[in-house]
Amino acid sequence: MTSFGCSEDKIPGWQPTFRVKGQIHHRLGSLLNEGNERPVYCQIYFIEDAQEQVRQRNSYFDNLNADVISDVQAVLHKQNRYVSAFKTAAEILSEQNTDDMNLILSATKRPHGTHERQFNIPCTSELGVLMPKGIFNNRDIILRTRSHGRPLQRINECHRAYDALQYPILFPTGSDGWSIDLKLLNPKTGDHSNKQMSAMQYYTFKLMHRDYFNPLLYSGRLLQQYVVDQFVKMETTRLLYLRLNQSSLRCESYDVLCDTLKNNASSNTVGRNIILPASFTGSPRWYHNKLQDSLAYIRKFGSPDLFITTTMNPQDPVVKNFIYTGQRPEDRPDIVCRVFQRHVQEMKKLMVNHSIFGKLSAWLYSIEYQKRGLPHAHWLLWLSRNDRIHPDSVDNIVCAEIPAKEKDAVLYELVTTCMIHGPCGKQFPNAPCMKDGKCSKGFPKPFCNDTTITDGYPTYKRRSPHDGGNTFVKAVKHKGTFIDYTVDNRWVVPYNPYLIRALGVHSNVEICMSVKAIKYVIIYVHKGNDQSSFAVTKSAEARNEI
Ligand SMILES: [Zn+2]
Repeated sequence: MTSFGCSEDKIPGWQPTFRVKGQIHHRLGSLLNEGNERPVYCQIYFIEDAQEQVRQRNSYFDNLNADVISDVQAVLHKQNRYVSAFKTAAEILSEQNTDDMNLILSATKRPHGTHERQFNIPCTSELGVLMPKGIFNNRDIILRTRSHGRPLQRINECHRAYDALQYPILFPTGSDGWSIDLKLLNPKTGDHSNKQMSAMQYYTFKLMHRDYFNPLLYSGRLLQQYVVDQFVKMETTRLLYLRLNQSSLRCESYDVLCDTLKNNASSNTVGRNIILPASFTGSPRWYHNKLQDSLAYIRKFGSPDLFITTTMNPQDPVVKNFIYTGQRPEDRPDIVCRVFQRHVQEMKKLMVNHSIFGKLSAWLYSIEYQKRGLPHAHWLLWLSRNDRIHPDSVDNIVCAEIPAKEKDAVLYELVTTCMIHGPCGKQFPNAPCMKDGKCSKGFPKPFCNDTTITDGYPTYKRRSPHDGGNTFVKAVKHKGTFIDYTVDNRWVVPYNPYLIRALGVHSNVEICMSVKAIKYVIIYVHKGNDQSSFAVTKSAEARNEI
C-alpha cells in the first residue's frame, strides 16, 4: 500500500541479492487518484470493479497470474483491516468536505482494555481518528483523499503500521509491527517491565523458526528486502538515539570543536557537530580504534604468522538441512548467517582453545559481506615465540595440492569443491576475478616442486602432473555449453587440511612472514564495507557524521 523508496545496488551477473545504498523510506500518497491519472499503490483498492483492480495491477508488472492476483486481492479486501479502514476513511473525508479536519492513523493508539505488548490487529475505529488540523503526533499518518499536488507523505519508521502497509502479503490481516512503545516482559514472572523493546529484539524474534507457520521464512526474495528494510530501521533508531544524546557522549571534547576554539575562531561558526562515537559499529572512530589495536599487536608481537580467510559455502550440508523444501540458500539469509556464525565460533575454539597451529600470542578477525551477500571472515594469528613457523615446517601447515582420491576421499571432495580457483584466464574473460585481461588473484600459480620463501613471500609446493601432481576433470560452462576442464595444482587455493576437514568450508590459509605484507593485510582486514562518497563542505560548516 505504501511505496518503497531506496537506491538499489544491482550487480549484473551475480547471485540475486537485495542490496541498497543509503536510506530506505516508505511513502504514502493520497487515497484517491487525481481525475485523469492512473491509480497507484493503495489507490487501486478503491476501484469498484474487482476485475478492473486485477487489470490495473497487471498493467504495472509483466507475467502476473491474474487468477492468483484475484485470489490475493479478495483475501486482502476481506481480511486486511487497513484496506477496510482506508475505505471508511475515504468516505468520512468525502462526507466532511472540510479542510479543517485531518483523519489520523495513530502511531500509538490501541483499543481500550488491551495491553500494548500484544500485537493487536487494529480495529477500524482505532484507525480513523478525526482530529482538528495541527493536533497530531509527528509519527502519525495523516490520510488525504486527494493529493492536490502535495508530495507523498513519508511514513515514520517507528509507526506500528510501517510493516503491514508495505508488506500486505506477509501480514494479510494488517497486524502491528514494531513501535517504540512496545515493552519487554520479565521472562521469569511474565510481568510487564518498563524496559523498551528494541527493534533488533523484535525482529530477531520474528525471524526465528517457530512451531507455527511463519510466512516470513517462506517469502524468498521478499524476505531479503524485509530483512534489509528492518536492518535500516534498527540503524535509524540507533542513529536517532545518538543524534538526541550528543551531550551525554561528551562530543564537545572531540577534536574539531577543540581545534576551532584553540585557533581562536568564533564558536558561532562551528555549528553543531553530530559525532558518531567509537562504540557505534562501522563509525570512523570504531575503525580507528580497531586499527590502532592491531597496530599495537604488531608493535608488541611483530608481524602476524598466519592470514586465514574463510568464506561461507551456500551449499553447506547444514544450510541444506535447515532450509525448507524447494528453497535455495539465498532464500534464507537468516540460516546462512547463523551457520556462518557457528563456523566462526568453531574456528575460534580450534585455534584459540585447541591451538591447532600452536599457542597464540594474539589474534583478531573481521567479518565482511561479499558482493554476492555471503559472509566471509579474515583472521590474523600471532603464534607464541616457541611455536613460530619455521621455513621447513611450512608444508605441515599449508598445502596447495590436490590430494590423492584413493588416499583421502573426504579431503579430495572438499578440496575439489571448495578450494579450486577459477576457471579464469583468456578462455574465460568474464570471470569475476578478471581485471585488464589478467586474473587479479594471480592464478594460475607456477608449478613448483618444493616450497620456497623469497623475500618473505612463500611459493608453495605445486607439483606438475609430470612430477606426480594430481589432476581432476570438472564440467564448466563455456559460451553456453558445458566443457570438460582439467584442473591441476596451479589452481589450488592454499589450505590447511585439518581446518578444511573440521569446518567443511572454503578456508584459505597463507603464511605471512614479510614485514612488507603486514601493512596491506592490516588495512585489508579493517577496510570496512565497499563504499564511495563525496562531499562539498565549507570549512566552518557543522559536521554531521550521521
Ligand atoms: Zn582468477
